[in-house]
Amino acid sequence: MSRLEISGIGVSPGIAIGEPVVYETRPVAALRLPIEDNEIDREIEAFRRAVEGTVERIEENAERARADMGEEYGSIFDAHKLIALDPGFSGKVEELIRTEKVNAEWALDQVVSELISRFENLGDLYLADRKLDVLDVAAQILQTFRGQDLHRLAELDSPVVIVADDLPPSLAVQLPLDKILGFALETGGMTSHTTIIARSFGIPAAVGVRGACEAARSARLIALDAFEGKLVLDPDQVEINEYRSRRREYEEQQAQLDHVRNLATVTRDGRKLELLANIDLPMEVESALHWNVDGIGLYRSEFLYMKASPLLPSESDHLEFYRELVRRMAPRPVTIRTFDLGGKKLARDVIGSPEANPVLGLRGIRLCLAKPGFFITQLRALLRVAGEYPPGTVRIMIPLVSGVEEIRITRHLLRQTAEELRREGHSIPEGVPLGAMVEVPSAAILSRELAREVDFLSIGTNDLIQYALAVDRANDLVSDLYRASHPGLLRLVKKVLDAGEAEGIEVSMCGETAADPLMVPVLVGLGLRKFSMNPQAVPVVRNLIRHLSYREASQIARQALQLVTAREVEEYLLERLAIFFAKIKIRV
Ligand code: PEP
Ligand code: MG
Repeated sequence: MSRLEISGIGVSPGIAIGEPVVYETRPVAALRLPIEDNEIDREIEAFRRAVEGTVERIEENAERARADMGEEYGSIFDAHKLIALDPGFSGKVEELIRTEKVNAEWALDQVVSELISRFENLGDLYLADRKLDVLDVAAQILQTFRGQDLHRLAELDSPVVIVADDLPPSLAVQLPLDKILGFALETGGMTSHTTIIARSFGIPAAVGVRGACEAARSARLIALDAFEGKLVLDPDQVEINEYRSRRREYEEQQAQLDHVRNLATVTRDGRKLELLANIDLPMEVESALHWNVDGIGLYRSEFLYMKASPLLPSESDHLEFYRELVRRMAPRPVTIRTFDLGGKKLARDVIGSPEANPVLGLRGIRLCLAKPGFFITQLRALLRVAGEYPPGTVRIMIPLVSGVEEIRITRHLLRQTAEELRREGHSIPEGVPLGAMVEVPSAAILSRELAREVDFLSIGTNDLIQYALAVDRANDLVSDLYRASHPGLLRLVKKVLDAGEAEGIEVSMCGETAADPLMVPVLVGLGLRKFSMNPQAVPVVRNLIRHLSYREASQIARQALQLVTAREVEEYLLERLAIFFAKIKIRV
């Protein structure tokens, strides 16, 4: 054990010191490790335990599926169980361990490869599907075998730092977040969804910490400096003390902002703005209420799906969740975004097969319109809850809109669904507000036309930057090109704000840029009035706005729009705002 330092990119501020838990999702090529005669029984025993653990989990899922969604869904899991217990599968692995005297991981890898190539050679569509099932079951067995069973983390006595190669949001939401001190991830970006979850829960996180998994496996203690994006393995005592004192200092600074929770969000020269919350998980509502937000600007409803995965939420799952969310926030408005599945948000059970380029694939509203069954289930629940509150309390927002057609089809589906519900005896109001996210460049370019079809627009910069600049938001290798300050993005944002103004509809922003201290003055100056962000960011942004003058912000925005590179914009803002940021103790 000796000290080692790896650098990455800090994406959620803070310092974490603790024991590492390594979680690898990438398929690690199994090594063929010879074992001695006297180790064979032990290896087989360990493999059997992994199979048993996997079967238990499959049975739990099957039971839930039957109870929630009916017999046919339960049988999907029965098929998985049969694979796990099939003598031609598990039995073969045991046989290989015994006859070849090799480690279980390698034996499993061999058996899976052989089965897959047999399926592929038969060229049968049914078997192509079974291939996915076999891979799924094998991955589960492997994870249990390696002790990477996420459910066990919930039973940990003390909190840990998660070190992972890639941690998709569908896995992150299964973690007991109260027991996570920090995330050190080998891949990811400023606005990848796990980063957003970390920020939202105030969990320090760094991405692009390449080699972290391998190094952390033999480390006893690690320190994650997410301000600098640095991971230190086995730090010495002096270093640990330094990190502890920096963490205290940061916590004290945070605590000093507590007084802004009940203050108005208004600039020095009296321009009233609104701060709303982005919510992924129900636990965040408390923090939104604590910071006295003006409503929910974005509830990412696909998290309902990720929680229920591999099942689809039923109408009553939707209803129960939305009712509780709206009840807690009322009378403040709650904007619920319809499923934004696909892309990096796992949707295999809905789509059926993996896509070569999922971020440009069947994602968001496209997926909902292509498979309207589960979309209509969601619309039914949304309309029913809207009918239980005064008009405007529940608002429906559509993700990944690329033009007016998707809005028109959605409106048509909404009308049909409302009529159906009325026939069933529900009281469904007319005109539940319908909004579109502007996160695809074509939607920004067509924002005037879109504005005539919807009740509100919300700019999703996380994706808008990704698509406008052609930079993967979750790829640390290009994260230095992912810039909210890019003149291309600023001009698109201005276009959307101008369209809203001209057509007399509300425009908000719910991408992470709305909470970026460097960008907030420009956004205020461009005319944005509604900022939606993770609740933890509210105090900093409210404090900033209260010290800002709208008149100056307008000048800053005008000047920034004249510049032609992201770097020029950033340098200009840093210089112009240096004294301002120092005065209100903001680090940018
Ligand atoms: C966005 O793209 O800016 C957004 C808010 O949506 P998401 O981060 O869920 O893609
Ligand atoms: Mg988006």
